[in-house]
Amino acid sequence: MIAKIALEEHFLVPGVEPYWGRTVEDVPASVREKLHRQLFDFADRRLEAMDTAGIRFALLSIAGPGVQAEPDPNIAVRLAREANDLLAEEIVKRPDRYGGLAHLPLQDATAAADELERAVNQLGFAGGMINGHTNGRYLDEPDFHRFWERAEALRVPIYLHPTDPVADPPVLQGHRALKRATWEWTFETGSHALRLVFSGLFDRFPNLTVVLGHLGESLPYMLWRFDSRAKLYGVKLGRAPSEYIRDNIAVTLSGMNSIEPLRCALDALGEDRVMFSADYPFETITEASEFIDHAPIPDSLRARICTGNAQAIFGLELSGAAH
Ligand code: ZN
Repeated sequence: MIAKIALEEHFLVPGVEPYWGRTVEDVPASVREKLHRQLFDFADRRLEAMDTAGIRFALLSIAGPGVQAEPDPNIAVRLAREANDLLAEEIVKRPDRYGGLAHLPLQDATAAADELERAVNQLGFAGGMINGHTNGRYLDEPDFHRFWERAEALRVPIYLHPTDPVADPPVLQGHRALKRATWEWTFETGSHALRLVFSGLFDRFPNLTVVLGHLGESLPYMLWRFDSRAKLYGVKLGRAPSEYIRDNIAVTLSGMNSIEPLRCALDALGEDRVMFSADYPFETITEASEFIDHAPIPDSLRARICTGNAQAIFGLELSGAAH
């Protein structure tokens, strides 16, 4: 089994639990209770699951949407800070196994930038995770330039994680099975990432790295069409959309255990832009590890996907011998 770094692995702390609770109202109570136990555990159960899958190191992040769903900005700022401090306390107990992605109160772009800086510089976190829009506001708004400027200056990636759309998309009405992780989150999150690209954000901040889960939320498959339509519609950008997606967006598996999209992401974005992650506890960690352990790709590429690319992009180290 190859050693792995996992990047989209979730936890909860009491202050942000109610926001998460709404996202699992539809799932059976027994499943909900199991997820709840797994999300609050930083010790035996989580470490055992990581060991079984060969995961040497995991970047932990709040199970969304977290404080981004909070209407009161002051409460959001306080709860994000508390959540980051509680995570830092857990990381200190197992710094060889856990790192952190900052939880951020995007209701206030300056407060979010300050919290990111505090989490990176004082708590040693490797970046931030943003759970989609914040009460309907998307990250291409000029007001968020203050935040992106700081992320670029700190040289840390920002992980853009799915969330529910602002309103129920009419196209999915009457089809509950297509909601959330089946399809809804893919077009919501992919669209959010495309707003960043098409707004010229990466012309303004060329050294930013945004990370998408689920092998790029379908973007790698669409590069040609983005470029061709941008030309047709006269989109004013410094470069073709696909060039920003290749240079400024990296992707993780997030439990997408399937060779076709993996090959597409590798071909479209490059072998240095694709990273392992399991999306614990929402996907099966052993299935994720078995998939990448046995995927029909060269071992040197497997090692880059499992550890090398995450070390380069997030600046992570693996302690111990099993690099
Ligand atoms: Zn996730």
